[in-house]
Amino acid sequence: MKRLEDKIREEGQALSEHVLKVDAFLNHQVDPVLMQDIGKAFAERFADLDIDRIVTLESSGIAPAMMTALEMNVPFVFARKRKSLTLQDDLVEADVYSFTKQETNRISLSRRFVKPGERILVIDDFLANGEAALGLTELVESAGATVAGIGIVIEKSFQPGREKLLARGYRVESLARISKLEAGHISFVEAVR
Ligand code: 5GP
Repeated sequence: MKRLEDKIREEGQALSEHVLKVDAFLNHQVDPVLMQDIGKAFAERFADLDIDRIVTLESSGIAPAMMTALEMNVPFVFARKRKSLTLQDDLVEADVYSFTKQETNRISLSRRFVKPGERILVIDDFLANGEAALGLTELVESAGATVAGIGIVIEKSFQPGREKLLARGYRVESLARISKLEAGHISFVEAVR
């Protein structure tokens, strides 16, 4: 997605060869017009699928997932990283190791909002080692639903997440695919579209 790649080039910061900071438009400040375009791009790429619901992970997945849900006219739900007093009953849970925070979070989702037999589109902000996306697929499948596709805003293609998801048979669509991070330069995998 050209607009996203331009934004990453202009406002993204390679903190190291492994970590990209995009808190100017995705992880802290959020660019709503870009999110709207992201929602349209995901809706287009997954238009052939009959999606019942979108599932994402708080907090940075919420903005792109919500805009995609609006475009596809389906509900969306975000998995929680922390237990809430009001969210205790009938949960499905999975452990996710966070690449950026270097800690394990138990993520959870209420069975009230993902029903058996539903076809789910999983959306997340980043794909690195695939832990977060795999945790989300585990939640969806524990609830008896099916993962129809996985939509990623920024994929770091030099890390193994994509291969892991493909090896398990999931369809993955990433709007920006980064092949290399260097100080002052960010390279992308394929020609923009
Ligand atoms: P994974 O679980 O695939 O290893 O990593 C995905 C999760 O880690 C994302 O949900 C995202 O929050 C975070 N993450 C991984 N790599 C990066 C990165 O380079 N930059 C930022 N901002 N977040 C990242």
